[in-house]
Amino acid sequence: MIIKSNYSNSPVWRDIHVHAVLPPELQPLEEISHNLWWVWNEEVKAILETLDTEEWEKSGKNPVVMLQNLRSDITERLVNDKPLVERIQRVYAQFKEYMNVPYNTERPSIAYFSMEYGLSHVLKIYSGGLGVLAGDYLKEASDSRVDMTAVGFLYKYGYFTQSLSVDGQQIANYEAQSFGNLPISQVMNEDGTPMILEVPFHDRVIYSYIWKVAVGRINLYLMDTDFDHNSHYDRSITHQLYGGDWENRMKQEFLLGIGGILLLNKLGIKKDVYHMNEGHAAFINVQRLFDYVVGENLPFNLALEIVRASSLYTVHTPVPAGHDYFDEALIGKYMTPIIEKIGIPWQQFMDMGRSTPGSNEKFSMSVFALNTAQEANGVSKLHGTVSQKMFQPVWSGYFPEELHVSYVTNGVHLPSWATSSVKELFAKHFGSDFFEDQSNTNLWNNIWNVSDDELWSLRCHLKKKLVDYIKVEFTDGWLKNQADPTRIMNILEEVNPNALLIGFSRRFATYKRAHLLFTDLDRLSKIVNNPKHPVQFIFAGKAHPADGGGQGLIKQIVEISRRPEFLGKIIFLENYDMRLAKRLVSGVDIWLNTPTRAQEASGTSGEKAEMNGVLNLSVLDGWWYEGYKEGAGWALTEKRTYDNQEYQDELDASTIYSLLENEIIPLYYARNSNGYSHEWIQYIKKSMALIAPMCTTKRMMDDYFDRFYNKLAERSKLLRLNNYAKAKEIVEWKEHTASNWDSFEVKHIEFNPNQKMNINNDNKEIYGKVVIDRKNLKCDLAVECVVVDIDPTSKTPQFVESYDFELVKTEGRLLHFESSKALNDPGSHQYGLRVYPKNPDLPHRMDFAYTRWI
Ligand SMILES: *Cc1c(COP(=O)(O)O)cnc(C)c1O
Repeated sequence: MIIKSNYSNSPVWRDIHVHAVLPPELQPLEEISHNLWWVWNEEVKAILETLDTEEWEKSGKNPVVMLQNLRSDITERLVNDKPLVERIQRVYAQFKEYMNVPYNTERPSIAYFSMEYGLSHVLKIYSGGLGVLAGDYLKEASDSRVDMTAVGFLYKYGYFTQSLSVDGQQIANYEAQSFGNLPISQVMNEDGTPMILEVPFHDRVIYSYIWKVAVGRINLYLMDTDFDHNSHYDRSITHQLYGGDWENRMKQEFLLGIGGILLLNKLGIKKDVYHMNEGHAAFINVQRLFDYVVGENLPFNLALEIVRASSLYTVHTPVPAGHDYFDEALIGKYMTPIIEKIGIPWQQFMDMGRSTPGSNEKFSMSVFALNTAQEANGVSKLHGTVSQKMFQPVWSGYFPEELHVSYVTNGVHLPSWATSSVKELFAKHFGSDFFEDQSNTNLWNNIWNVSDDELWSLRCHLKKKLVDYIKVEFTDGWLKNQADPTRIMNILEEVNPNALLIGFSRRFATYKRAHLLFTDLDRLSKIVNNPKHPVQFIFAGKAHPADGGGQGLIKQIVEISRRPEFLGKIIFLENYDMRLAKRLVSGVDIWLNTPTRAQEASGTSGEKAEMNGVLNLSVLDGWWYEGYKEGAGWALTEKRTYDNQEYQDELDASTIYSLLENEIIPLYYARNSNGYSHEWIQYIKKSMALIAPMCTTKRMMDDYFDRFYNKLAERSKLLRLNNYAKAKEIVEWKEHTASNWDSFEVKHIEFNPNQKMNINNDNKEIYGKVVIDRKNLKCDLAVECVVVDIDPTSKTPQFVESYDFELVKTEGRLLHFESSKALNDPGSHQYGLRVYPKNPDLPHRMDFAYTRWI
């Protein structure tokens, strides 16, 4: 035996996390840290910062982490700080008071489904605008006392964190979220074990943990499949947002829809209205149909009537390519068993996801959503119109203008996006009701009573905060990644809170045209290099990891920013997230947006800017088309000049340069003896008085109730009454009409909308007569004249107007119609006659879009 002088293996390190045990005085903070109410309560954040500034920064401003890591010597000191303990008690009382306010039961209750939610930078379950909108909406639901429950996913890796390589290549890092560090709690069974949701897939059960996020008064439930009940393959369903292949997307959407409803069932939650935020969630209606057909034994058509009456579908995507389509093979694999149980033929189900039934189109989630929801909407006025065009193929007998597709313009949650100092200004000048009545234009008019000095010093404060933030947050990263320390130090010295700061930050999707500004580098260089009138541009944004074009744009901007003439004048900040967004939308002077026309469904970052006295310069697209007012920002016309996108880009770029050179820079630098531009402040005041009120989610929430929720809830109630009596009646009517629709015959047409007929017997002026033999058809019929202009180049008819004939006489099966309307609009038009079934119990024409052109 040889005796060694040293013998050991390597150490085995195991994780242990010692959570600080908080003394009772600090425990209220622990409770508050698990409700996202703190995101929009400044006092909580101020207290946390006072507790331990360093730990607050180190935690990434995450209250859960910060409280877990408080050192005992610090807690001991704090407990003896009486004023601080009192502050905690006060804010806790305020929290309790907020939480104890009951829901407004006069409004319908809502179930809300979305793939992503942007609630706080600490909870990475969002990628961009869609998620931030959903998050803001939940916060507003809480403030507006709406009885809402929301469903989504707890992603292990969320969306990626962005860094840049030395040459400007985007690096996507997927960092696992540590659930113990998040403001969430796991839903447990009564016996204290984790509650597990079982979702039957085609050949196996997928198990899901349920996590709860308290968003003020609203509960958001998140599904998580990443635990050992599931195979390795299924654990990854909730790993990434918009990651993986089509099959993974199928599994995610199956889980969101089918699992989402099963989750609510399991928790015993039923709501009046079911709201699909984007087509991803459309499978909720498969499970809802299943519940009525299998659970309640209702016939399929009746179930569909009831499901439709309580469903709203919101579309956020303006181009067909942006929607989800599934191959029949893939959807067949997952959906066949449940469709068999529902008991409709497979073909019928596939056709519910096709704009042309019977074709071999892929299954479209948006078409399925439209077919199972009575109401559908786009997210701005323009996008409503774009959506009508996009969805026209679904209702082939009708023109886009006639479709029952409406809109609600997106908004932003003011208490989350207005900075603390801006909210102080509101509290001081806008009256104590302001936060409850944020969309009231009268209150915003108080901005005219704020002195120029006060507003300007607020703006300077916010600009300086942004510049300081950039210096603190980005120095280390830049020094690490970007090779040349002198250059970095030069950039940081250049960043100047006194310059005109222009921000452009958003997802780097190519349609957003981040490159537009760089069309003419010489001209741009002259703009940014005027020593008397310094101008600086700040860019930020992530490109989807599969979007090479978007990543190319980032690289191009980073390369340009490295040129000597642009150093420190154009900077690109990494890892755009909600925290950086908040600094940017409040800290620049101008928020720039340059989308390709009609492709910005709404956009919301510019609305965040409005709340903070930042002016918008943007193409009139999305929300800005409604928001823009002269003298309160700048706009590029919504009209295209060129079909050729390259020419259009050049024209738009040149317009932006001119606006900057001739209007914006002179306006900003027309400084008075107090060191600022009086005119600029008037722009800010005007924009806050006239534009900001429409930007709130308060306005948006009210619009959803006024345009959709109330109507849906009322109708569902009517259909359910007396054991679905009304619904049964409607279904019977639809079934009869559908099966006899082809049987009616046109006996007689005599019509010239331009010329009176001389066959009138009671001196009525008549332009046409139609006689229809209804044969077996029992329903009421209507005849209408549809006037169009046929575009000579595209040969497509453009809708002008439509009007009904009058039913003047019924003789047995014969229906006599007459038209007494003259067509007065001069010029040459085309017209067609269209017959449709009439039933005042239908919610709208597209609900049963049978037509026949005669
Ligand atoms: C607000 C926000 C968005 C959406 O901005 P758009 O104007 O729609 O581009 C995207 N990402 C983050 C992090 C945001 O805060």
